[in-house]
Amino acid sequence: ITSFGGRAVAVFGLGGSGLVTAEALAAGGAKPIVWDDGEAGRKAAADKGLDVRDLNEIDWSDVAALVLSPGVPLTHPKPHWSVKLASAHGVEVIGDIELFVRERRLRAPGSPFIAITGTNGKSTTTALIAHLFAAAGRDVQLGGNIGTAILSLDPPSPDRVHVVECSSYQIDLAPSIDPSVAILLNVTEDHLDRHGTLEHYAAVKARLVEGADTPVVGVDDAWCAAIADAIEAKGGRPVRISVESQLSEGVYAVGDRLFSAEAGRAVEVASLAGIGSLRGAHNAQNACAALAAARAGGLTLYQIQAGMRSFPGLAHRMEQVGRLGPVLFVNDSKATNADAAAKALSSFPTLYWIAGGKPKTGGIESLAEYFPKIRKAYLIGEASEEFAATLEGRVPYVRAETIEKAVPLAAADAAASGLEEAVVLLSPACASFDQFRNFEERGKAFSRAVLALPGIGKA
Ligand code: ADP
Repeated sequence: ITSFGGRAVAVFGLGGSGLVTAEALAAGGAKPIVWDDGEAGRKAAADKGLDVRDLNEIDWSDVAALVLSPGVPLTHPKPHWSVKLASAHGVEVIGDIELFVRERRLRAPGSPFIAITGTNGKSTTTALIAHLFAAAGRDVQLGGNIGTAILSLDPPSPDRVHVVECSSYQIDLAPSIDPSVAILLNVTEDHLDRHGTLEHYAAVKARLVEGADTPVVGVDDAWCAAIADAIEAKGGRPVRISVESQLSEGVYAVGDRLFSAEAGRAVEVASLAGIGSLRGAHNAQNACAALAAARAGGLTLYQIQAGMRSFPGLAHRMEQVGRLGPVLFVNDSKATNADAAAKALSSFPTLYWIAGGKPKTGGIESLAEYFPKIRKAYLIGEASEEFAATLEGRVPYVRAETIEKAVPLAAADAAASGLEEAVVLLSPACASFDQFRNFEERGKAFSRAVLALPGIGKA
């Protein structure tokens, strides 16, 4: 990062991306001063030879910017103390994506930068787009919220495509973000803890697409439909995406068939038939968005279709982990809210459902329309009591407590059902923190328990 050469830059938050940011700043000639409220982060930074100092005790008149890790409160519920300090000294507060954006402008203006946001489907869409470009032989860098810190990717260059997942926290910290293609998939109620209101949350997400050369917007929810209209009203040309209505202009899906429409004329452009990793209407939305991005990036329809067919899918998102006779085991540990779980529940006809964990507000009443397909529920974690109360008299359930106990119980019930295909689904509709470090650990525990079943085979 060369934009702060010679200047002091404060970095708060020393998880993975904070350390990478500090090192990238130092490599570009800036003088990062780093801090974290936790001992472990400070030690990791000191081990890397970084200048670790309490930001309460530095001379802020010299500091050019505060780079904040995503997840550290910028405004809501109240600003973090480092943000207050920076603001008191008139120092700008930004994130690592902002540093990337500025570097791109300096070094490779106009280089391909595809950014993806939305409440659900970000990682799937991001991974799918990266896969489409990679399968077509392009130089792709994949990162951001999906895992790899953006500043540890290879730097922008005119023929290198950056595909970057952005959380709303990260967009909040990137005031001048200007992707070549930006995708806003959907906006639903989640993550309101930091952004306060849905209005603010939607506005943050809208900013990503408003600044893009090609804005791609899913219009199946009212918030995003309004955002697409607003872009158009300002003279922009949003590419609308829908899996609910046939658009006269845009990209839409009817079942597993994808269409592209211009001036009221629609052409079938791709098919998701038989692609297990892109099953379900929600994945059709992701695929429509990926198709629009890939076309904007110059891929042919042939390359896009071939790439979709070879897409392996993401771990922990409706991942098919094993099969035992007629019983398929599906790991959807990433479904940490009812809305995400609804997608999985809607994708299979008959279910043995493992659910629960650390409950989220709202519970599972919104899933009532799927209750008739659930043969039995296996409740785990802190949410057991609340979920049991919702299911009482409507869906048979057991309090299985843990995944390790739930899997064999569900497997035995599903095998005894006599069905031609039964699905044992982990789609918790809850956070994982009561029993696990994160949703990945929870998904791995499920896979381990499945693969330990006698006679288990490949999905
Ligand atoms: P994110 O990165 O936004 O959290 P993922 O791609 O990791 O999204 O998917 C998370 C969960 O959300 C999955 O369990 C899946 O069932 C569901 N999901 C995926 N795509 C969509 C979508 N377009 N709309 C709603 N839910 C989705």
